[in-house]
This record gives sequence, structure tokens and C-alpha cells, in this order.
Amino acid sequence: TPILFWFRRDLRLGDHEGLTAAAETGRPVIPVFICDEVVESHGAAPKWRLGLGVEHFAQTLDGIGSKLILRRGRALDVLRALIEETGAGAVWWSRAYDPDAIARDKGVKETLKDDGIDAQSHKGHLLFEPWTVETKTGGFYKVYTPMWKSVRDRDVPADLPAVSELRAPESWPASDDIADWGLGDAMKRGAEIVAKHVCVGEDAASTRLATFTRDRIAEYGEARDEMAVEGTSRLSENLTYGEISTRRCWHAGKRAMSDGKKGAETFLKELVWREFAYHLAYHTPRIIDQNWREEWDDFPWKDDERAAEIKAWKQGRTGVQLVDAAMRELYVTGYMHNRGRMIVASYLTKHLMTHWKVGQAWFDDCLIDWDPASNAMGWQWSAGSGPDATPFFRVFNPATQAEKFDPNREYRARFLGELFKNHGDEAKDFYKAIPESWHMSITDDYPEPVVALDEGRQRALDAYQSR
Ligand code: FAD
Repeated sequence: TPILFWFRRDLRLGDHEGLTAAAETGRPVIPVFICDEVVESHGAAPKWRLGLGVEHFAQTLDGIGSKLILRRGRALDVLRALIEETGAGAVWWSRAYDPDAIARDKGVKETLKDDGIDAQSHKGHLLFEPWTVETKTGGFYKVYTPMWKSVRDRDVPADLPAVSELRAPESWPASDDIADWGLGDAMKRGAEIVAKHVCVGEDAASTRLATFTRDRIAEYGEARDEMAVEGTSRLSENLTYGEISTRRCWHAGKRAMSDGKKGAETFLKELVWREFAYHLAYHTPRIIDQNWREEWDDFPWKDDERAAEIKAWKQGRTGVQLVDAAMRELYVTGYMHNRGRMIVASYLTKHLMTHWKVGQAWFDDCLIDWDPASNAMGWQWSAGSGPDATPFFRVFNPATQAEKFDPNREYRARFLGELFKNHGDEAKDFYKAIPESWHMSITDDYPEPVVALDEGRQRALDAYQSR
């Protein structure tokens, strides 16, 4: 009987454990993608970008004589209907580790097993399964560095070759047309503006990894902080949809390290930050939507979305140039430089004393590399409420950060049209991309700071000390 292979965040043929195992059975395989309750809950940009990934992956499957069957509805209902229609005896998938996906998958697995179906989950989204990495006393790591030390020398099995053939079923079940799902409906700026910055699919991801390890990884240690330079891999967009496996990135990093490329170890460490985020989400799911450290529950965070300061932050007009440039980068490209993410998150949670969940929600809505675990960890790290977080009293000074990491003002000029005559195309695109209700144009005066940097910093420290 056929195997239904349920794709989620694993849109690839290369180094795919579950799919390889399915192909090796010699049974017909029916690839399926479901616009289900978890997908429906995504923010605008991730949903739109996921749609592009799914469409692309459907073509990839066509290329090997297979198909991607698209269906919409509650995952369990759709899978049961497909089992009925196709006579499938098995449903396999690659595991996900964030709480929403785990809750969904657990329910699906239990019910299908009760129905007598071979429901199996496989490894693939992470390098190290969260239950295989333990501290000496048997718990999970709550601090990053010891976790890094415990995994850095582990044997990681070699990548698997790409699946090149999947046996087709005798007849294919009907498939939806992805256009009818409207995955991009909430992303008006997607097709015209953000689309210029996406890099979709497995081949594109492989090229990204190859050029990064060939040209940039040696200098990555320093270049990763220079905001105007493309010094990082940009693979987060592909890793989040599984268009490339973390294991391929890991092995590429290890090879670069043995070739003596200096920055390679730092790259491997970053991949382990991603693992750390997932291990935390798995072991302490509250990291996604509650203060990881409960002592933060009574901190006087502001969270009124109507507040002028919060709006100014989202719209890139706080009057703090580096913060605004980074927020506009996010809006126009769907991506933000890691240093930018740290700076805008520090500014929102400290200078503007706003709850990290407000920032997290905005990133959830705008990032094309949105990742439930890394985003939650990044915000809690920045706010000080998370595990192994930066202490609250360490407030990033955006002005000093600008001097260090954007010394020639190139990054700011790229995005801030009101201030820089030599602005980049992205600055123009920003005014095209924003909704009318933001009332902004390139001829406006650049805003005064919503709060003076010293004053905001002091206000945050006072609140922290008087808790
Ligand atoms: P590179 O520097 O090339 O790093 C390689 C890979 O390592 C990345 O693709 C990513 O998978 C992983 N990585 C790097 N830094 C981190 C990190 N700090 N935490 C976890 N994984 C990391 N990353 C996301 O993928 N999705 C998010 O939604 C996300 N939200 C964030 C929110 C905040 C407030 C902060 C401070 C960080 C967030 N990050 C997130 C982490 C980081 O900023 C991005 O992974 C990185 O900027 C992606 O660019 P890159 O692929 O060029 O990274």
C-alpha cells in the first residue's frame, strides 16, 4: 500500500532521512502538503514565503516524476480523507519541535495508530534530537556554551544523496490549486517588493551554502557583524522551510574548518544556537509565549499596540537611525541583519520598555526566515527574560553600535531615504511598500527621537532596579 509522505518544514529531496526511507521501501509514495491549522496561524510574511517554497517544491517533485498533493483543512481530517481515497497504509513525516507542531503531530500520530495506520516521524530538522543532548546530571542545557562544548565533536552521519525517484501510485488523488489558498493575501508588498530579496528552493539554498563556504566563511568571524556587508550565509530563510538540511551546513562548515578557514567554527557555533533554541522550545515550551524566567512576570512592560512609540518602532521612525534602518530592512526585505535584530530588540524592550512579545509578534509577521524557536529565544535573550540571556542592565547603545558596525553609514543610507541623498533602492521601496495609513514619504523630515537615548536607558534601569 502507498505511503503518504506529509511535508512540512522539509521541502527538499537532498539529505532527507524520512523520504529516503520511504523511497527505499519500493512502495508508492504520495507526497502531500497540507495548509493546516499550524500553517493558518503563521504571520503574513512566513505564510507568503512558505507558499513560494511549496510551489517550488511541487515543481521539484514533478521533475522526478512525482507530484505534491495539496490539501487544505485540519491535518488529521485531511490525512484520514487521503487514506480513504488512496488506500495508504502509512503516513510518514519529518519531526517538528515547536509546541504547536508537537501538539498537532501527537494527536495525529495517536489517532492514526488507533486507526491501524503506520504513523511514523523521522529526524531531519535538527542536527541533534533534543533528547540526545544531556548535561552531566541528566537535564537539558539551559546555558549555550556547555551545550556547544558537548556537541561540537560529535560524529554526525554523512549527508544522504538526493532522492531521485519515487514510485508513483496507480492513480493520483486530486490536488488543490495553491493560488486558491491565498497564502500571500495578507502580504500586499510580497510580490512586488519583498520578492526581490527571497531565494527559494533547494538548488538556490545549495548555491548559497557553496558560495558562502567558498568566498565568505573565512572572514565570517568579523564580517558577520558588519551591517552593510553581506558577511553571513543568509541560510536562515532556507533552513526554516527545510530547503537545505542543517546537517549539510554542518558538514560544509566542518570541511571549511579542516581547510583552515578561520571563521568556520563561528558558523558551526551559530548552527548550534539554532539547535539550542529548539532544545529549549522542546524542553520548556513556555519559552514561546511566556517569560522563561518567571521573575519577569511583574515587570512593568508596556504592550498597548496603539502606543505612539510602539507604532514608531514598527514603522521605522523612532528617530534613532540604526533602529529605523533595521526596521525598514525587515519591512522591505523580510530579513534583518542579526546585529540589527539585537539592537532593535534591546531598544524596544529597554529604551521603550515594551514587552518582548510585542516585538516577537511583529517579527512573526514580517520575517521570511521566521522560526518559532529562534525568534522566541532571540526576543527573550534580548529582553533579559530568557535562558542564558543578556542581562537587562546591558542596554545596547544604538549610537555606539552604529559607529562600530556601520561606520561609513552605508547600511543606514540604504534604507533611510529622508536622510541620505545616496539612499539605496530599498529606501524607495520602503515608501512603496508601506500601507497608506503610515503616511510617510521620502520628502518628510526625518523624525526627532521618540525618547532621548540616555533618558530611555535610565528609565529602563530605574524600573529594573525598583522591581
Ligand atoms: P548566519 O550568521 O549565516 O548563521 C547561520 C545559521 O545559524 C543561521 O541561518 C541560523 O539558522 C543559525 N543562527 C545564527 N544565529 C542564530 C541565533 N542567534 N539564534 C538561532 N539561530 C541562529 N533566526 C531565525 O532563523 N529565525 C528567526 O525568526 C529569528 N529571530 C530572531 C529574533 C531576534 C530578536 C534575534 C536577536 C535573533 C533572531 N534570529 C532568528 C537569529 C539570527 O538573527 C538569524 O538566524 C540570522 O540573522 C540569520 O542570518 P544568516 O542565515 O545569514 O545567519
